[in-house]
Amino acid sequence: MWDDLVPVGRDPSTGGYRRYAWSDADLTLREWFAAEAARREMPLVEDRNGNQFAWWGDPAEGDAVLTGSHLDSVPDGGAYDGPLGVVSGFAAVDALRTKDFQPVRPIGVANFVDEEGTRFGIACAGSRLLTGTLEPSRARALRDRDGHTLDEVLRRRGRDPERLGAEPELLDRIGTFVELHVEQGRGLVDDGAPIGVASAIWPHGRWRFDFHGRADHAGTTRMADRQDPMLTYAMTALAANKQARLADARATFGRIEVVPGGTNAIPSHVRAWLDARAADEDTIAVLVGTIRRLATERAERDGTRLEVEAESVSAATTFDVGLRDRVAAAVAGPGGAAVPVLPTGAGHDAGILSAAGIPTAMLFVRNPTGVSHAPDEYAEFADCEAGVAALARVLEDLTGPRDVGPRDTGPRDVGT
Ligand SMILES: [Zn+2]
Repeated sequence: MWDDLVPVGRDPSTGGYRRYAWSDADLTLREWFAAEAARREMPLVEDRNGNQFAWWGDPAEGDAVLTGSHLDSVPDGGAYDGPLGVVSGFAAVDALRTKDFQPVRPIGVANFVDEEGTRFGIACAGSRLLTGTLEPSRARALRDRDGHTLDEVLRRRGRDPERLGAEPELLDRIGTFVELHVEQGRGLVDDGAPIGVASAIWPHGRWRFDFHGRADHAGTTRMADRQDPMLTYAMTALAANKQARLADARATFGRIEVVPGGTNAIPSHVRAWLDARAADEDTIAVLVGTIRRLATERAERDGTRLEVEAESVSAATTFDVGLRDRVAAAVAGPGGAAVPVLPTGAGHDAGILSAAGIPTAMLFVRNPTGVSHAPDEYAEFADCEAGVAALARVLEDLTGPRDVGPRDTGPRDVGT
């Protein structure tokens, strides 16, 4: 499976992946997913929002255990972020079938569409639409960098954008979600462990900063006469870095657009996106508020003007503690060493489903570089195999006949 995926959407000049939602590369990945489902005789379901599900057993029976992740990427992303979870889901199904395991609950492997939000700006768009936390009308109007709306793109790809929206019936059938993911830091390297279990996802969000100034000539405009939004932006980027360090948080400007973008012209407009994360929501609110205040003060001195808009904000996720402990015990196996339990600053569909009330857990696979969202992201093959084995043990535990099942660890009850 891995060999099939390696060339898809890979940029030869950077070695990074450009697998954006509903792009040609994404379509190829979706076809790959459908073929893997068919090869295992797992019926494929595409929901109204483009999320794909391959089922072992009939999901209508309810209390299903869902695994999987996403196949899209950030610009020049690594190979593992997302695909490792999807491939491991199929491989874990294979491992269970090889040993003639018969699940008493349906098992699903998911490919959530547009997790990274690279193309349309909203992270986890597929799971947000599924759970009803992204309004379909807002989603349809989102534009990519070429100006195409999601509405247009879906139509071109043979989907009906009028069907976007929440699917409570499908959600009700999912009793548990377990997402396997490459670790996006060095926690497991420091712990000397190949596999870990997530405790929480930090709250995080994206804010769009629009700095408006006055376009003018780079040679004839005296320095004192300028209203240069690039200066306001530059100070804001430095302030964000300093404030995040002071708050033990994270702040990143990773994308800017400059208008008109001439080497010999003072810009009229700089648009920049702030990604901010912290261990708790109060810290993030204070951090973004402080960056905004410092930027506004600087804009007054520069004669520029600032507008800030939140594009997507995710609350903190604390994963179901009972499920987490059960998953950690299954990963460790009988008599095995305790499995590290660690938080992450990265957002995932697991956070969206958890917020929707589905008991959710995550497994992390060690990443020796600690790098993610970049081509250096990596996992040793032996660690990937350990991840598949761990996921198979978790699925076996959660769908085995031996007790009442995971639904009882969570607050929801579907009554099936
Ligand atoms: Zn991911």
